[in-house]
Amino acid sequence: MTDDLARELALLHEFGYTHLDPKNVAPPPAAAKTESTDDWSDLERIALACTKCRLAKTRTQVVYGVGNPNADLMFIGEAPGRDEDLQGKPFVGRAGALLTDIIKAMKLTRDDVYIANVIKCRPPENRNPEPDELDACRPFIRRQIDLIKPKVIVTLGRFALQSLMEKGLSITAARGSWLEYDGVKVMPTYHPAYLLRNPAAKKEVRADMKKVMSELGIAF
Ligand code: URA
Repeated sequence: MTDDLARELALLHEFGYTHLDPKNVAPPPAAAKTESTDDWSDLERIALACTKCRLAKTRTQVVYGVGNPNADLMFIGEAPGRDEDLQGKPFVGRAGALLTDIIKAMKLTRDDVYIANVIKCRPPENRNPEPDELDACRPFIRRQIDLIKPKVIVTLGRFALQSLMEKGLSITAARGSWLEYDGVKVMPTYHPAYLLRNPAAKKEVRADMKKVMSELGIAF
């Protein structure tokens, strides 16, 4: 067995393809986990071919993530909608245009940050993600964070917050206060789609993003 094949099996096992047990043939996962660009492209390749949950049957495309893989700031949303499913990129619809405005107001561009979702495939009719879908997809966002190593994560809305933190936190109670995920500071804020319905809540998001700018040393 070549090292490449052993590594591939270890990665697939980590992402839930447990019938391919690498224990006897692969190096232990710690040895397989390096910070090379290979890890990034392997992860993307596995995500793009994922069939771990029922959303694989109805998606047009897997929406892996976009932006700077060395970003200090990462935005994490819920799940692709119709536009994202068609284009294969997160936050490209109306909510995405608002997220782009939020990023610009922080004196950054979409290319400076990394944008991804906790669910990589569109739930039919944009329904809420099911708990088993969130569980199946969680290893991808965890590994993306692990590889990007951002200084700050902004979670957008309830599902991103709850899936990342694995706690039933209320978005209204949690937003605006720092949390921590695996040594990374996390700022929960409202989802841009919520802001489209409730523009008055933009002032809270502005305040939250100022805290993020301060943390990243961006003057405002
Ligand atoms: N809403 C999300 O949470 N993510 C997207 O990519 C688009 C809309």
